[in-house]
Amino acid sequence: MKTKLLLAGLIMAFIIPLFALAQNENLNLEMIYKIKQEGKTHSQIEEYSFWMTDFLGPRLTASQGKIRASDWVAEKFKTMGLSNVVVDSVRPFERGGWDNIKTYAALTAPYYTNFASLPKAWTGSTNGLVKGEVVLVDIQSPDDFKKFAGKLNGKIIILPSAATYEPSFEALAVRYTDESLKELTQESTATRQRRNFDRAAYLKRRELMQKTADFFREEGVSVILNNSGEFNVPRANGANYKIGSELPTPELNLPIEDHGRILRLLAHNVPVEMEIDIQNEFIPNNKVVNVMGEIPGTDKKLKDQIVLIGAHLDSWHGGTGAADNASGGIVMMEALRILKAIGVQPKRTIRIALWGGEEQGLHGSRGYVEKYLRDKETNELKPGFTNFDVYFNMDNGTGKFRGIHLQGNEMIRPIFEQWMVPFADMGCSTINIGSTGSTDHVSFDALGLPAFQFIQDRIEYGRGYHTVMDTYERLLMDDLKHNAIVVAAFIYQAAMRDELLPRKPYIAPEN
Ligand SMILES: [Zn+2]
Repeated sequence: MKTKLLLAGLIMAFIIPLFALAQNENLNLEMIYKIKQEGKTHSQIEEYSFWMTDFLGPRLTASQGKIRASDWVAEKFKTMGLSNVVVDSVRPFERGGWDNIKTYAALTAPYYTNFASLPKAWTGSTNGLVKGEVVLVDIQSPDDFKKFAGKLNGKIIILPSAATYEPSFEALAVRYTDESLKELTQESTATRQRRNFDRAAYLKRRELMQKTADFFREEGVSVILNNSGEFNVPRANGANYKIGSELPTPELNLPIEDHGRILRLLAHNVPVEMEIDIQNEFIPNNKVVNVMGEIPGTDKKLKDQIVLIGAHLDSWHGGTGAADNASGGIVMMEALRILKAIGVQPKRTIRIALWGGEEQGLHGSRGYVEKYLRDKETNELKPGFTNFDVYFNMDNGTGKFRGIHLQGNEMIRPIFEQWMVPFADMGCSTINIGSTGSTDHVSFDALGLPAFQFIQDRIEYGRGYHTVMDTYERLLMDDLKHNAIVVAAFIYQAAMRDELLPRKPYIAPEN
């Protein structure tokens, strides 16, 4: 009798709260079956992967490559049957467009060897092929300018680097194990240690960098050699150029191995000579654009509400931005293709946005928020804020979705738990209450709106992103197919649900 009572008590304790807390989400299992079938048997993931990487190439913000990519994506949206397709300008972009059209760099003394290298974006061109000795220039304070004044005209200079190479004993690609996924389900109250940020020191460093760049330009330096990347793979970054200002000195990123070799030769007093030819094109394209398309809502009351999905279309200029972030765009396009193919008539409008300018500061998604959700100057909330339902982003490489990060939104846990039931046997069922950052969902999450990224297996992302090796080969087609199926089901559920998804309280963010 006692055991029976205990048992009954236990059952009540577990079952009742579940029912009391969680509304039934009315999963449409027939639709989910259709989504899975369409995603598995008619997948366009491989096609989209080819077009978005090999065909479009690099897509640096505002570059000619990016303009071509935006136009191509808009055409693709139209042929997919999406409505209201637009290339939408949302923010100014002071740096303008920049495309590299030629890069050649080789050591010519003490022996010949060519280097894989990448010009820093928004830096200038050499005067044809320049040849000469490489000079080490170490500027630690403005006092050091005197040492080099009048000596650098036409010279190829190399800057010192504190970077050292450390071998990694970790696998480049890892899938979450049952154990590591279980860890993700645990909430922690530990406060994260904030690194002390010395703003004064940062500003001083920045000022010296600017003065040094001006000094090199005024002295007529022909090329600056810098260090970024490893494994003989150069990594991309960019200079702070503004349309109309003087062109920055040509600057070349060498991976740590080639950069280090030159420094070691010079430290042993072995003269080093190089020949370099860099040609870049600047265009005064001062806009960040997003490419958008829709499956219009069909419910009279709900059709103005927006279920939004997206990923950034811009990339760095090395490689073809495959994992970062063609993969996200490919998945989101395929998710919409699946819904179109099975004839979904959503109650809410489902909108896709492939953002621009993510790599220079989430400009595309932030610009969308400013244009449609909240006025940046007046803090006034616009109709887009009221009508916003949810945003799903993908920007953590090619890896398979294993669950979702809730960004602290406890209210949405019971909903996503139910939405993920049909994907548990595909390995996607983990809920992490924590947040993930550094990409476009943050622009919406900052207003308390439901905006999420999925938990993804980490596949070679650390080594490849922003480098010349971020190409088609980095994409795992089966993982991308899986992700598109999950996104299609999630946005279907969101678009058909009676209510908007629960939000966190709105707090006006500081601009
Ligand atoms: Zn990215």
